Amino acid sequence: MSKTTAIDPDNLPYADGDFYGFEQLLTEKERDRLSEIRDFLAREVKPIAVDCWNRGEFPMELIPKLAEIDLVSPVRRQGFSNLFAGLVHAEVTRADTSIATFMGVHDGLFTGSIEALASQEQQDAWLPDIYAMKKIGAFGLTEPLGGSDVAGGTRATAQRDGDTWILNGAKRWIGNATFSDWVVIYARDVADNQVKAFLVDTKLPGYSASKIENKISLRTVQNADIVLDNVVVPDFFKLANGNSFRDTNKVLKVTRLAVAWQAVGQQLAAFDVARRYAVERMQFGRPLASFQLVQQQLVQILGNAVSSMGMMVRLAQLEDAGAAKDEQSALAKAFTTDRMRESVAIGRSLLGGNGIVTDYEMAKIFADAEAIYSYEGTYEINTLVTGRAITGISAIV
Ligand SMILES: Cc1cc2nc3c(=O)[nH]c(=O)nc-3n(C[C@H](O)[C@H](O)[C@H](O)COP(=O)(O)OP(=O)(O)OC[C@H]3O[C@@H](n4cnc5c(N)ncnc54)[C@H](O)[C@@H]3O)c2cc1C
Repeated sequence: MSKTTAIDPDNLPYADGDFYGFEQLLTEKERDRLSEIRDFLAREVKPIAVDCWNRGEFPMELIPKLAEIDLVSPVRRQGFSNLFAGLVHAEVTRADTSIATFMGVHDGLFTGSIEALASQEQQDAWLPDIYAMKKIGAFGLTEPLGGSDVAGGTRATAQRDGDTWILNGAKRWIGNATFSDWVVIYARDVADNQVKAFLVDTKLPGYSASKIENKISLRTVQNADIVLDNVVVPDFFKLANGNSFRDTNKVLKVTRLAVAWQAVGQQLAAFDVARRYAVERMQFGRPLASFQLVQQQLVQILGNAVSSMGMMVRLAQLEDAGAAKDEQSALAKAFTTDRMRESVAIGRSLLGGNGIVTDYEMAKIFADAEAIYSYEGTYEINTLVTGRAITGISAIV
């Protein structure tokens, strides 16, 4: 082959990045469905992703399309495996991390709270509209003064008053909350000091949400500061089984795994962009991909991505068996996001100067990785949860 022979970037081997064929573990029905979702993402999400990110605006017109492709509650409602759900989440991230985060909030955190903590009567009343995305949800746990320590440090209060509850306090970073119909608010009951969960209609008097501006990561996601000023919530809207932080943790254990799947998707996205660039970009009369150091960098990203995926595949099997432990979720979130940070940094540098402008997509991938590294329990906190499990000694406090 001549040194300058052009390689077709649209026809590279291992196009799906699934180097060890993990998708073969899916059923045929799941594989068909994954392929349908991939087509949807290529058609509806990928073409608008960079523009929305640059403008910092959420594409509201995408919501009915996301509703139609029917992504909410794939395991509990639709009967798919956790491996399928994880691979879908990785694929949505690969197309756009902000849309994956929007879905992660509406589906995992918000719908997950209702599914795990609401009574059957409450679920029957609320879930049909939530599944159909006629009602969009948010998840309000973090506070301006309560981040990593929010379990013991929730300051928002709930006070029982006859048939109602009165909520007061502030929440920070709440995704989707500038436009969501509902938000699950976690607040401390002044009577027994336990953190309880409430479904709050965002139109209620005393509720306000303002957009957090000037983000350098997940710019399409609308994160909000929420103020609760004597918001009166009927007792029916207190989630029947959300009565302590231990209950909240049931939701977070599952969503933490979804974030680890995001780290897989993020690395596959970095691999896609870096490999394409390396075969197309010519320097010294040859494609970048012909230099040994560049091949090493691509292989490093691939190795990081598939080792992260392998860990997640095993965890999905444990989830299906109902046997995934908290510390296993924590290690997965810490490990995959750590590998992700290296992968996106290699990808960023592999594009040289073009790696710092979003036009080439890598800059967006690089910046979005930072939010994933920090949300749903930071790298450090998940590391310490794992450290506590293997030593029997807590180094968190
Ligand atoms: C883009 C984005 C979206 C989010 N969406 C939501 C949402 O929808 N709903 C929601 O409720 N929250 C959301 N969050 C909040 C997120 O979960 C918190 O940012 C996260 O838990 C960390 O809290 P913090 O930002 O207050 O950091 P802090 O807790 O202040 O931590 C700052 C630093 O100190 C370190 N640190 C803290 N304690 C320890 C310790 N004991 N040992 C070692 N290191 C420590 C942390 O690891 C971190 O590096 C979102 C955050 C972001 C950035």
